[in-house]
Amino acid sequence: KNLSPEDIKAAIRDMNIGTISLQFTDILGTVKHVEIPASQIDKALAGELMFDGSSIEGFVRIEESDMYLRPDPATFVILPWKTREGRRTARLICDVYNPDGTPFEGDPRYVLKRVVAEAAEMGYVMNVGPEPEFFLFERPSAEQGRPVTLDHAGYFDLAPVDKGEEVRAEIVLTLQEMGFEIEAAHHEVAPSQHEVDFKYADAVTTADNIATFRSVVRTIALQHGLHATFMPKPLHGEAGSGMHLHQSLFRGEENAFYDPTTPDRLSDVCKQYIAGIMEHARAITAVTNPLVNSYKRLVPGYEAPVYVAWSYRNRSPMIRIPAKRGLSTRIELRSPDPSCNPYLALAVILKAGLDGIKRRLTPPDPVEGNIYHMSEAEREELGIASLPGSLAEAIRALEQDPLILEALGSHVASRYLEAKKIEWDVYRTQISPWELQEYLAKY
Ligand code: GLN
Ligand code: MG
Ligand code: MG
Ligand code: MG
Repeated sequence: KNLSPEDIKAAIRDMNIGTISLQFTDILGTVKHVEIPASQIDKALAGELMFDGSSIEGFVRIEESDMYLRPDPATFVILPWKTREGRRTARLICDVYNPDGTPFEGDPRYVLKRVVAEAAEMGYVMNVGPEPEFFLFERPSAEQGRPVTLDHAGYFDLAPVDKGEEVRAEIVLTLQEMGFEIEAAHHEVAPSQHEVDFKYADAVTTADNIATFRSVVRTIALQHGLHATFMPKPLHGEAGSGMHLHQSLFRGEENAFYDPTTPDRLSDVCKQYIAGIMEHARAITAVTNPLVNSYKRLVPGYEAPVYVAWSYRNRSPMIRIPAKRGLSTRIELRSPDPSCNPYLALAVILKAGLDGIKRRLTPPDPVEGNIYHMSEAEREELGIASLPGSLAEAIRALEQDPLILEALGSHVASRYLEAKKIEWDVYRTQISPWELQEYLAKY
């Protein structure tokens, strides 16, 4: 579906498109856009559209604020919910360029493309299939206290149709209209929690899809008077939202993770990739789990990982190997959550996996018992490390991992660390309702 500039212009004419939304993301993964009238499409496709990048999180200083957008023709899609006086809106995802024509180092899409190119040099294409989870709450969601849920349903429940189910169905229809191939949609374990899985694609396409997916979910929810959130842990005592990432490396038509001759039918490359991710797991977490709140999900008891381990069957470790083999051979990374910047998350994960392959690392033995039932001493004996327990710990791990910093590039790494340190500092000086309830009267 790689459209030429001519195809796009024809589509604009034939589909009665009045406006085009040119999109990109900042380092925190927030989608930004500039709207242009369709008459400006030639200029846009030629990459001549300039914007001021100085107020965008993690972008540039005032003196060097002129940036250029280069739309990626493959990302042309009509936004089904946006029609004004019969004229429709299309969107194009853009790469960000400097005035001198070089790619802008602060563009997360470029960060991912750099690592994807490194994989290509080694002969690999990364494929990724995400499983994003999210909550649909009543609006206005509680400013203080607990967000208001819509239902009392649980995992896979076929509830008598409630508002949440209805809106989820609408989300699926909209995504399909936009060309998404939806594989499954279901209620998740927590009340008001849902999951929509879409088909795997190469890393850049999947990152684009995740960004698009989040804005579609929010938009459709809002249209129905609901608030959708990808916040990882909005309800104390209930499951949080993860975004498991199923991933494999392809070499031409072949799945490089598959080897029919080994006992587990996983290739050495697959094992090395797993080992690379485990080696860099703690640093990666600062990107895949970027919020203070992310670490309230990574606790025992809610099917979210807490330990750096892998397993064939057990769902408690960070990496699980789904049973499928052949072309579908893949690993499932279960730590990421849907608040991450998908471009940066895939960049650091792929970088870590490639490092494992380059250094021919061997992973520790898989863990088949339930890690949560082991004592700390038992875990230590098996060499099972913990994921960071807080954003502060994750930031420290990232600062100490030169390879993952290199994946981000110095521009993004320094701004990302700066933003996250401020976030942690603001958080750690708050006085929470829990503290007041627990301490005020007693001490
Ligand atoms: N919600 C769980 C998590 O936080 C995942 C539940 C599942 O999909 N089995 O990762
Ligand atoms: Mg799932
Ligand atoms: Mg799930
Ligand atoms: Mg899963």
